[in-house]
This record gives sequence, structure tokens and C-alpha cells, in this order.
Amino acid sequence: MKYTQFFSLIVCLLMVSIGTSQNHRCGTDQSDAFMTELRENKKLFEATRNKSRVDRFIPITFHSVATTQGEGRVNDLVIYSALCTMNERYADTEMRFYLEDINYVDNTNLYNAPGGQQGRAAIDNVKSPNSLNVFIVEDAGTGVGGYYTRGLDVVVILKTTLADDRYTLEHEIGHFFTLGHTHRGWDQIASDPSVTQGGYDPAVHGDTITITTVASSQSGSVLIELMDGSNCTEAADEICDTPPDYGFGFSCNCCTMIYDVWDSNGDKVEPMMDNVMSYSNNCNPYRFTEEQTVAMLTSFDSDRRNYLRGGSVDIYTPVTEAAVLLSPGLLADNYNGVFFDWEDVPNAESYILQIDGDKELEYRVSGSEFFVEDLDPNGTYFWQVASVSKFGTSCQTEEVRLFTTGTGTTSLRDIEGVTNIGIYPNPVSTGLDINIFLTAEAAMSSKVSLLDLNGKVVLTQNETIQRGENQIKLKTSSITSGLYVVEVQTANGRMTDKVFIK
Ligand SMILES: [Zn+2]
Repeated sequence: MKYTQFFSLIVCLLMVSIGTSQNHRCGTDQSDAFMTELRENKKLFEATRNKSRVDRFIPITFHSVATTQGEGRVNDLVIYSALCTMNERYADTEMRFYLEDINYVDNTNLYNAPGGQQGRAAIDNVKSPNSLNVFIVEDAGTGVGGYYTRGLDVVVILKTTLADDRYTLEHEIGHFFTLGHTHRGWDQIASDPSVTQGGYDPAVHGDTITITTVASSQSGSVLIELMDGSNCTEAADEICDTPPDYGFGFSCNCCTMIYDVWDSNGDKVEPMMDNVMSYSNNCNPYRFTEEQTVAMLTSFDSDRRNYLRGGSVDIYTPVTEAAVLLSPGLLADNYNGVFFDWEDVPNAESYILQIDGDKELEYRVSGSEFFVEDLDPNGTYFWQVASVSKFGTSCQTEEVRLFTTGTGTTSLRDIEGVTNIGIYPNPVSTGLDINIFLTAEAAMSSKVSLLDLNGKVVLTQNETIQRGENQIKLKTSSITSGLYVVEVQTANGRMTDKVFIK
């Protein structure tokens, strides 16, 4: 178990590529009721096209669902990573998704059956009124990777499909903004019970599609779209620049058109296999068409989505670079005080320092350095840093470093007759005093110094230590942040300890 947490991102991505082959059906209802909003919005498509294209900022609340016992939740990093990936995948649409909140929900009903009565009640109870709600769950029904539910107006997605290569999250967000499947109507085949896989089946449908409608429980009865565009406003997804797709990707579980199929006019069907709203597999990247983008933008601008437009974020500042790691090197002599340092990453608002190995540790850090006192001696550890902004973490693969700890301790308390040495506070904020506490058996003179990590003295003062308890103050106002060594020299010996000035 020990190493798995640390590589959660990598492991998760691997699991996703395995898991989605079973869980890639979409559970979004696309009946006439679902299509109503798109039909209404189409009247405004021209107006949307004529608007100058500006970034639209969309607040998202991710509800990270666990069992009632609090088990099984995804690591936050998976959410930050999914957010970055989604922003990259939506880059051309000028829709920018930012994190409003991660809400932690412990509810087994919601975790295992979000579509059940209790699961739905739980969703209704916790959903945010001012953001797009995405619920991350364990199970959403057999074979279902995710869905958008119009009634609750939320997206539900599996832990295993949250950041997958099939664009499951991006697809469900597409539904949220009114898009139907490009193969709408072919979502499954209700007329032939022997066909378990949805979509076009050459044995059932032949080379030339002569039927004019296709029915499914997901979509109801739907007009089959023709290549010449003559019925594109009413057929399938009712969007004209997505060509006919008879569920080919669902049928072949691939991204290449492997069938020769003609429509009822005798025109050869040429689908857009890599559309985000298709069921094709292994396309990566997938894309939206121009009209699909206009549909989503119109939906965002509509009265129904008014609640998404009250946020204060109006500039897109994603983290685009991986963190450059500086310290520690391969060996940390001391185990009980290890200084972690990395370069500032542009646009990062905070960092997650992950340490794994003989101990699993994770810290949320505001600056690009941190002093860790929780490691064990003679330990082997990996560490990495994820840079986080409201637009997610970096989409870059983060460097992972290895180090070992020695048996040394940061305090060398070897002044004869001096005990109970402590430094407070540690870390200390610049401008505040460092207080050195110690108890001496006898009075003695001392020199107290602050050294940087190169051993350069940055501050020194002479102090007389009294018999009994002492408090020595060092002023930090002129000292830049970083790790320093406090040194107390006396005729009876010398002690050092590390202090972190932030
Ligand atoms: Zn779908």
C-alpha cells in the first residue's frame, strides 16, 4: 500500500485506461425533453456567433464522494489534474473552468447508487447553487461511465473516468451545455434483443440504411440523419455540422470508420469519429465542431445558466509548467528536519508536497519551500510537487525524486550544563523574533549566530547566559526567507539547530 498513494495520479491514469473499456456508456437521458433547451437556444445561435469571442469562466464544485465511513474518495490531485485536462480539451471553445470548491461527501448511497432515490436526495441536498456540480462516485450503474441529469442539473462521473482518455468528463459537460450524442437514437438498439452492443450492426442493418427512424430508451424515436444535410436540423443531435453517425464508434469500439455504409439517398456515410459527443474509442484528441461550441456558449449565456455567471474570476491563469525541484538531494543527513525547496511556478497559488516511501506524507504549502520534521531515520522516500491554481494543477508530468534520510538530527545539543534547548516559533515569519530557550546549570558567556545553508554568518550577537532559564531573542527583520542554522557557542561547547524563516 505504501507506494500506491504517491503514484496515485499515474496509477489512476492506468486504471482509467483499463476501467473504461467496461464503463464507457453514457447514462444521459436525451429524450425530447432534453432536446428542448437546445431547440430553444438555436434561435440565438446567430447572435452568439456575432458576439466577439471572449473567455467564459465557469465555476465548478467537485463533490468528492466517499462511503459513509469516509473511505474510497479520490485524491484531490486527481481532481486538480482532471480540471487542467478539461481546460486544455476545451481550449478552443474559450470556456474556462475554475474550481469553486471541492466538497467532501461521506454517503454510501451516493457513492454506490447516485441514481437511486437516496442518492438523488443526497445530491439535491449538497449541490452548490452557484456552480456547475460534478459528483465523483464509485458506481453509476452497469457499464455507465458518467451522465448528466437534467432534473438535478448535475454531472455524475465515476472515479475511474474522471480524467480518462475517452473525454468522459468533457462529454458529460457537453451534455450539461445541451449537446446530444452525434449518434443520438443509436445509443442502443431496442428492436433486436440479441444485439447487446449499441450502434450500427451490419448483420442487422445492412450496407444501406433504409429505415428513417431509430429508437432507444435513452433518446426515444429519432430521425436518422442524412449525408446531404437535408434533415440535419431535426435528425440525431439536431446540429448540422456534425455529420451522420449511426453509432459506428459504439459498434466498433474504435476511432476509425471500418464500415461501408450508405444512407437512404445512396450517399456514403462519413461520420466524424473523433467527436467528443460520439461513443468512439481511442481517438484522443477528440473535438467539438463549431456549431457544438456555439450551442455550449449559447447555453452558458442563457437565462437557465444565469447562476453560473456570478463569479469574480475573469482572467485565465492556468499552471502550465512542471515544478523544478531543488532540495533535498539524494541524501538528507538529518531525518528529523529536512528542507524541501523548489522553484516558484508561474500562476501557482499553492503547492501539494507529496512524500512517499517508508512514510506517506502530504502537505499543502503556500510557498515554494517547506521544512519537514516527520520523517524517519534511514528511510527511502520519493517526493514530488504539484502546483495548484484555481484552473487545476499543471498538466505536465511532475518530476519524481528519490532521497534517503540519515540518522543525524538537526539539533546538536552538546553544551555541557545546558539543557531544555528549544527554538520558538519554528518556522518563524520574517519580522518576528526567533526565541531560543535554554536552561543552564551555571552562568556563561556565549556567541549566538544565524548562518545560512552555505555556512555564511548573517547575524551574530554576544549573549550572557544566566543560571536557570534563559530566553535569547534574534531579530529576523532584515533576513530573507529560507532555512537557517542557529548556532550557540560557549566555552563549554556548541549547539546548532535549524530554523525556517518564512
Ligand atoms: Zn453522452
